[in-house]
Amino acid sequence: MKMRNEHLRKTFINIQRSAPITRKALARSTGQSVATISNHANILIDQDLVYEEDKGKSTGGRRPVFLNINSQKKAIFTVDIRVEGIAALNLYDLSLQQISEKNIKIEPDSCERTLHKISQVIEPLLFDNDFSIEKLLGIGVSVPGIVDRKNERLIFAPNLKWSGANITEYLQKKIKTSVFVENDANCAVVGEHIEAFSEKDNLIYVLIKEGIGGGIIIQNTLYRGSDGNAGDFGHMMMDSSSAAKTCYCGDKGCWETIASERYLLEECRKALDNQSLTKAQLYELGRKNQKINSVISETGYNIGVGLASIISAYNPGLIVIGGGIVEVRNIIQSEIKSALNKRITDTILEELEIRFSRLADSGISIGLAHLVFEKYFEI
Ligand SMILES: [Zn+2]
Repeated sequence: MKMRNEHLRKTFINIQRSAPITRKALARSTGQSVATISNHANILIDQDLVYEEDKGKSTGGRRPVFLNINSQKKAIFTVDIRVEGIAALNLYDLSLQQISEKNIKIEPDSCERTLHKISQVIEPLLFDNDFSIEKLLGIGVSVPGIVDRKNERLIFAPNLKWSGANITEYLQKKIKTSVFVENDANCAVVGEHIEAFSEKDNLIYVLIKEGIGGGIIIQNTLYRGSDGNAGDFGHMMMDSSSAAKTCYCGDKGCWETIASERYLLEECRKALDNQSLTKAQLYELGRKNQKINSVISETGYNIGVGLASIISAYNPGLIVIGGGIVEVRNIIQSEIKSALNKRITDTILEELEIRFSRLADSGISIGLAHLVFEKYFEI
């Protein structure tokens, strides 16, 4: 089926995001006429993508009829490759309800061996949930690194030490379906925007984990930049002094060398003179330990300094912070504010909201599922 009608496609996406919904309510929320929506709905019903259900209470006249997605029609498989050493695999139905999840360990020194492990899991997981490869709309893979948009190739994932891996080609050969690779923070910003902050037209998501990534939504659309890698905020230069730390990317003084979880852990280890301190222990000690508390505060302040540059460049209205750092939100919040107060004018600050992720780790997978749905669904 060739996609001929972009408006029809948009209607389908809108039904998917707000189902169950009546034709009237959908017309109201999209600004289209009820006749156009009804026309689209009839085509989608004919194709078995949408069905009608009587759900509403009658107010004396006819009971309202709701449009809903035929969730069993297709499935979407997502792979979230995380620097923490796992790949989170998720299966979604066409309503984008998660129907199955599984984590596998990744091979840190071999992208190909990791992909092999992933490819072995896909078919059984589909089968266990009454789907098949034929019903798979596509596979989305999120990576913590730079993606070559044209060739769908991972160029560099500094925190995984993978480079040049052709994830798309490898998985397409093993599983006969469309495969799409996207940067993890781009997926997360889409997930947070659609599922948690849809009332905002512009938002910036900053993912603070081992490194720092970012995703940008401008006018309700993911902004990828000219080759797909906009928002790589972690490598903004923040320290040009001779004492600047060397970053995994090879440069010195990048924002993530002073504001990521990696920095936080290294500094806490130094402060406690304990090289075996883990991230979990660090977060557990948190506020109770004075030394750790002050390292977390300092990291929070450094996060604020970087956010100030982002705000100056984009004036986004909403910044959402996600990633492991959210564990210490209570400590970093005030430090971020104090860094921003020193750098950003009051009028911009008054309009600015800084929030923490509502979806946590699942934001990447659900955002990825939305992107696969939008990219591959042809009507
Ligand atoms: Zn860097």
